Amino acid sequence: MNIASTRGAKVHYEGAPVPSDLAKPENHPKCAGRVRDIQAAHLANLKENYSDIAYSFVVCPHGSVFEGRGLHKLQAANGNHQLNLNHYSVCAMVGDSGLTRPTDAQLGGIRDAIDLLRAKGGAGAEIKGHRDGFATQCPGDPLETWVNNGAPRPGATPAGISVSLSHVVAAAHTDPGAAQGHTSFPADVRPVEAALVAEGLLDPTFGSDGSFGAHTVDAYAAFQRREGFTGANADGIPGESTLTALGSRHGFTVAA
Ligand SMILES: [Zn+2]
Ligand SMILES: [Zn+2]
Repeated sequence: MNIASTRGAKVHYEGAPVPSDLAKPENHPKCAGRVRDIQAAHLANLKENYSDIAYSFVVCPHGSVFEGRGLHKLQAANGNHQLNLNHYSVCAMVGDSGLTRPTDAQLGGIRDAIDLLRAKGGAGAEIKGHRDGFATQCPGDPLETWVNNGAPRPGATPAGISVSLSHVVAAAHTDPGAAQGHTSFPADVRPVEAALVAEGLLDPTFGSDGSFGAHTVDAYAAFQRREGFTGANADGIPGESTLTALGSRHGFTVAA
């Protein structure tokens, strides 16, 4: 059965013993055969009467993504027809014994599968575990915890905005004299502008253009005076101490 879209994806595990040494690099050649074994077991399950492997995708411990039913196909792993319509399914090759914790490569592969489902399969933003809304141990505690933490890609930088001091200083020197709308480092300047608006020092009209123009320089100078600086130390060109103070109040950190 073809489907246009889903709310997102549910994460599963095999729920059976998985060899504890499967994650070793030399064992990757076994992974494709393991996917076919799962498919054969599902096709042999007369009670469920599956038409194919139940999952949309299967991800091995080495990070490879194997296509199950794939994109825009109703999958059959989530517990009942409505649950199957609601979400795609991605199964990680981890078990309830042996290999029970997903590898970082595997978590990255699950994200690859979910990103593909979103980009090409009409999947929405939800990422849940099989046990969310259905009575099961699946996908096991390690994967359920990962899902509940937002399914972060391993090694990704933690949420939070970093502003480069050298970038905003360069922008404060070049943007005011440049043509209207000129930006040099908008990704660094925007959080500073938003903080100055929140401080009541910058007109919101200029608060999100990403240009450290004359209005932003004036607003920053006012912030410097508020912080106790005077004269040339309150010239509207950011320094480390005032930028760090501004960021600590408004949710960004300062890098060189
Ligand atoms: Zn499951
Ligand atoms: Zn593998």
